[in-house]
Amino acid sequence: MSSIEFVKIDKVYKGLNQFHAVKGVDLSIRDGEFVVFVGPSGCGKSTLLRMIAGLEDISGGDLYFGQKRVNDLTPKERGIGMVFQSYALYPHMSVYDNMAFGLTLEKKSGQTIDQKVREVAGILQIDHLLERKPKELSGGQRQRVAIGRAIVRQPNVFLFDEPLSNLDASLRVQMRIEISKLHQKLKTTSIYVTHDQVEAMTMADKIVVLSQGRIMQVGSPLDIYNTPANTFVAGFMGSPTMNFINVQAEDDHVSPDRGNGGQFFQVPFQHRGAATLGIRPEHIELSPQPGALAVDGEIAVVEHLGNETLLYLSTELCEQPLVVAVQGEQSPEIGSRLSVYLPPQRCHLFDANGDAVER
Ligand code: ATP
Repeated sequence: MSSIEFVKIDKVYKGLNQFHAVKGVDLSIRDGEFVVFVGPSGCGKSTLLRMIAGLEDISGGDLYFGQKRVNDLTPKERGIGMVFQSYALYPHMSVYDNMAFGLTLEKKSGQTIDQKVREVAGILQIDHLLERKPKELSGGQRQRVAIGRAIVRQPNVFLFDEPLSNLDASLRVQMRIEISKLHQKLKTTSIYVTHDQVEAMTMADKIVVLSQGRIMQVGSPLDIYNTPANTFVAGFMGSPTMNFINVQAEDDHVSPDRGNGGQFFQVPFQHRGAATLGIRPEHIELSPQPGALAVDGEIAVVEHLGNETLLYLSTELCEQPLVVAVQGEQSPEIGSRLSVYLPPQRCHLFDANGDAVER
């Protein structure tokens, strides 16, 4: 069984720089699931991964693989395959020997090793590179060898620590698709750490968003995008980031704190008191919508992304510019005025603690 269960997992780094890096993490990962850990630098992603691998001891709580508590097992006893950002290949060994290394240590027969290495090299399309040394390979090829070296040992669980961050943009896309295809084929439980939201959204069955050693939300990519649990997740996931407007809520109406002449605007929430209204840049409309809040502003910045244009509007509603994403190429003049519309159905509402108000 390669389901994984975290029960109140804690990590305190001891010593001069004592630091509580992971705080009471509860998480269930199903057998065969592809789970992505995301969060800002220092939130504890790598620490969690290293605790699963057995490279870091667990300060509190219980870690299970299936029914078995594994807190005290050595890395070798856990049956983990790990792929790092720095490929960590042995430079003096050929691709073949790099891939065979783990199996040789396990004292597998020469015939078994040969069969396994060639089979996996075939899957990863590196069978023509087996005699080369790592320095004679491209970045993408090296990363494939690193993945191959993990696969040949048929681990129960794969751990990926930002495996694509050294690759250029187009190679990242290609490798991302290959890792997803590989997962569909092997169905090995996988945990993948990344800073890259697109990787998280496209590869994950389940995303775990972390901040300061705690889980902020666990959900499918669409859950996280459509119903962020709090302002942290709402602001962290999505690019460009969600717009936030301070409002006062009165039952199903809200009134922005700034600008708007104290007008109320109906929203599909029931709440009272200070709150934050959120709307993603891609959900703001340029044409009037029934029930939408009309916002007038001045165009401060225009960013062309090719497939879309980002307009940064200075408005009275919020201190920071309101970001509006428009499909295709648009070239409005800087300093010109524009009215945009916030459809209530596309809005999110967060209470004074930053937690999402349910619809
Ligand atoms: P990044 O995305 O930058 O790699 P991360 O989310 O993977 O970050 P971790 O490497 O898990 O973060 O570190 C979590 C926190 O623990 C950080 O604040 C880090 O400074 C701290 N930390 C890591 N190792 C130690 C250590 N040996 N001693 C003290 N603190 C540590």
